[in-house]
Amino acid sequence: MAQFEPLIIRVAVPSPLRRLFDYLSPADISPDQAEKALQPGCRVTVPFGRREVTGLIIETSRHSEFEMSKLKPIGQLIDQEPLLPPSLFKLFIWAANYYQQPIGDALFTTLPVLLRKGELPPLPGQPGWRLSTLGLGLGPDSLKQARKQRALVDLISDSGPELAESIILEAFSRPIIKQLGQKGLIEPVLIDANASEVLDQSLDENLLKEDNLKLYSSQQTAVDAIESHGFNSYLLDGVTGSGKTEVYLQSIEKVLRYGRQALVLIPEISLTPQTEQRFRDRFNVPMVTLHSGLSDKQRLKAWMDAKTGAASIILGTRSAVFTPLKSPGLIILDEEHDQSYKQQEGFRYSARDLAVIRAQQESIPVVLGSATPSLESLNNCATGRYQHLILSTRAGDAVQPDWQMIDLKAERAESGIAASTLAAIGETIRNKQQVLVFLNRRGYAPAMLCHQCGWTAECNQCDSRLTVHRARSRLICHHCDHQRRIPQQCPSCKGQQLIAAGEGTERSEAYLQQCFPDTKILRVDRDSTRRKGAMQEVFDAANSGEPCILIGTQMLAKGHHFANVTLVAVLDADSGLFSPDFRGHERTGQLLTQVAGRSGRGTIRGRVFIQTHQPDHPLLELLMAQGYGHFATQLLAQRQLSQMPPFRHMAVIRAESERANEAESFLRLVRQLAESISPPSPRLGYLGPLPAMLEKRAGRFRYLLQIDADQRPALQALLTQLAPQIENHKDARRVRWSIDVDPQEL
Ligand code: ADP
Ligand code: ZN
Ligand code: ZN
Repeated sequence: MAQFEPLIIRVAVPSPLRRLFDYLSPADISPDQAEKALQPGCRVTVPFGRREVTGLIIETSRHSEFEMSKLKPIGQLIDQEPLLPPSLFKLFIWAANYYQQPIGDALFTTLPVLLRKGELPPLPGQPGWRLSTLGLGLGPDSLKQARKQRALVDLISDSGPELAESIILEAFSRPIIKQLGQKGLIEPVLIDANASEVLDQSLDENLLKEDNLKLYSSQQTAVDAIESHGFNSYLLDGVTGSGKTEVYLQSIEKVLRYGRQALVLIPEISLTPQTEQRFRDRFNVPMVTLHSGLSDKQRLKAWMDAKTGAASIILGTRSAVFTPLKSPGLIILDEEHDQSYKQQEGFRYSARDLAVIRAQQESIPVVLGSATPSLESLNNCATGRYQHLILSTRAGDAVQPDWQMIDLKAERAESGIAASTLAAIGETIRNKQQVLVFLNRRGYAPAMLCHQCGWTAECNQCDSRLTVHRARSRLICHHCDHQRRIPQQCPSCKGQQLIAAGEGTERSEAYLQQCFPDTKILRVDRDSTRRKGAMQEVFDAANSGEPCILIGTQMLAKGHHFANVTLVAVLDADSGLFSPDFRGHERTGQLLTQVAGRSGRGTIRGRVFIQTHQPDHPLLELLMAQGYGHFATQLLAQRQLSQMPPFRHMAVIRAESERANEAESFLRLVRQLAESISPPSPRLGYLGPLPAMLEKRAGRFRYLLQIDADQRPALQALLTQLAPQIENHKDARRVRWSIDVDPQEL
């Protein structure tokens, strides 16, 4: 039997270690043959520690840094062809490098669970076997010692692909088939599968299920500007209700007519079922939706339908940016400013930024849409990287709502609701219209305190107060979910006068119900929507058009279209104005504009009441008087002056530990390591270690080290050298640490 120098197979495995692992190709296969069969992007099983795990081949090589005798051969080749199309494979590698995430972790936390477990993608048709490229090249002298295996290879070689059933009928046992499979000499195929070329259907005249709306002129300009071929990025900057979705739909139609697929990303599917419905209502093409409610099997099926081209439209949230596509044509990412596009733990990627990178790699257009674009995207328009498409008026007869400031210093508020706000709510209900009340704090009250001694209820695991939840009779920490009963008396002075101070949605709801006993009031927050179907009830009530009051947190601000809401009341506009995060103002402007945008989307002009203690705050005034566009331009100018993102590029290294000083001193060490790679300079600066905004959380002390640079490559080069040094440092095991590139929250 011929013996060859084996090929080195470099494999990514699901492990937090920042490296690939070297294995050997099977001994009885020549390196040339192995190179053909063991392609990057194919899964293999490999021995890893004491286990056997599923890994993914990243590359093959003739050399290893390790001693050959120490390397083990791979187990079994799972895929006969790469699981991921090359462009997506490249995207993963790019993203893992850019976000400093071990490639194995990045891949395996993003693939459908069943693929991680090594299952074969489901294929239509009858299972059978054919010779692999390896099997086809098998010399006549190979497998001399395995006569039965040789006979099977000869059979398939003579007769072509064979049904698994008939192989068994020819008296070959299952182990023989398995052994050949493991050697990669034969591969599973589907025989006589009449795999329908589903994409051809889209060229059909019946592509549309319903007629397109007649575009008004700026919509038409936008649709015309979006080229269907080649890479281009567009920012569709359209006020709430301006008909961005219609622009998406008609741009998608264009690429469907070329037999291409569209990938549509939205922040959250369960909150906005209408969006999905609008896509389904418009097109007669197969569409899959990737959301968290899918079973593992359904998810894999949807993934495969995207990969084989059986689905023409793929709608999903953040991680859907990694869906394989057979013939990509267009990527759309709605509400591009939404924070949920950035994963906040583990693989900390930004789906928005990756959508652009992916579009570039696939040479297709990408459209980012929002009524309140991020400063990053606006800056990309200013520098010419994105083409700026503007829809400045509402579609149909709807006009922009009228904003009014309610000065809380001058007016008394009861349970968070000022007298004039209450009067406007009453008036709206009497006019048989709907009201939306926005308060970004769930629970009954954000604090409980003792009137006599000033004691406050605090979480002993976090630096924070406990929130009073009256319906559940509990004090709950919103940071670590620690819960306890509401005490009967003050634990400190035994006094009886415990006060629930401030207001959350539960309290304002109770007060409104008391004021309007006959009106339906629907609360929307994480507590009220825990029950299955709760959100649907809210949509049904809102869509019925009956007068009602919707009260809730930012879950209510997301892209809903309720035609009969004519009054929006923001109970507390101040909290965001004083956030220490440099994005605080940007987020406040976005949130207020989005909430306000729920008002007056039908034919009646809407009103927006903004309650604040800071009616003269210059930014609030600017937002009210001139709208989000001018507001954002001003913020962007400030960012440039203060040299903050997007004018500098930032990464944050975080560490946390149960012992108070450990995280801080660890980051001091990280800073030393970093400075010896790249000394501080005007081009690359360090800040920290600093305590995190909530220094203690869930019993851990949290610190961060901020690094910023004027050029991305300099920051990348530093992090790429630094990460393995941190990982290999003995102190790294004592803390939890992570790197966050382009952090969204500090
Ligand atoms: P956005 O996503 O920009 O907030 P939508 O796409 O939800 O706005 O559109 C708001 C409303 O305007 C929807 O009811 C939509 O059907 C309607 N609309 C959009 N474009 C047109 C148009 N060209 N003619 C008539 N109605 C339109
Ligand atoms: Zn007390
Ligand atoms: Zn806590």
